[in-house]
Amino acid sequence: MSLREKLKALEELQQVDIEQAVVQAEALAVPRRRAEIEAGVGTVRKAWQAEQDRLAGIEREKRSQEQTIAAERDKVKKWEGRLAEIRTPREYAALSREIDIAKKTNESVGEQTKLLTAQAEEVAQEELEGLVRREAEQAARIASLEARRAELATRVEPALLTRYENIRKRRGGVAVTQVIGGTCKGCNRQIPPQIAIILVRANTIENCPNCNRIIYVPEAVSPVTPPAA
Ligand SMILES: [Zn+2]
Repeated sequence: MSLREKLKALEELQQVDIEQAVVQAEALAVPRRRAEIEAGVGTVRKAWQAEQDRLAGIEREKRSQEQTIAAERDKVKKWEGRLAEIRTPREYAALSREIDIAKKTNESVGEQTKLLTAQAEEVAQEELEGLVRREAEQAARIASLEARRAELATRVEPALLTRYENIRKRRGGVAVTQVIGGTCKGCNRQIPPQIAIILVRANTIENCPNCNRIIYVPEAVSPVTPPAA
């Protein structure tokens, strides 16, 4: 295998490793998002429970008021024919109306809360299902990148692969970088002219004198072939 081919394999290996790092970072974000959604559902459920408790309290209050009305009604019956009876039935009629209104309001508030809780849970459920799909996609992507990586690694001799891995660890995941217009794209520093000349030949593995990354000139490693006539 020519050095140019080894460089090409290294170049591709670098792309696979960068892509894998991106997918892995995305995969790490999934459990975080899941915890956020679950916490959100918990909050909504708590609010729903609080609303249920409040409605139960109102229901108890209503029952006690109804008992008062019943008692008043009895009194009215007992005192029928007296002057007071004219006012008292009005009072309990008004109270009764109030209770009806309160009952309807509570029912509608209860219904609304129930609806909103159901909606929030549905949205959360959809997003959780989306996360499960995303996890499966990420796992498939990582598996395919690992297979591609293993294949590329066989095209680079062990010593060069070790060199690549060592630089990658020390240089933020990027061990192989292009030189464009005499500038190393890893550290953005100028390459000495004598190294730039060597790079154009692409028959040695060179390192950037500044950042130590393996450097290459893309047109030397992958020459543009003129289209077939
Ligand atoms: Zn550099």
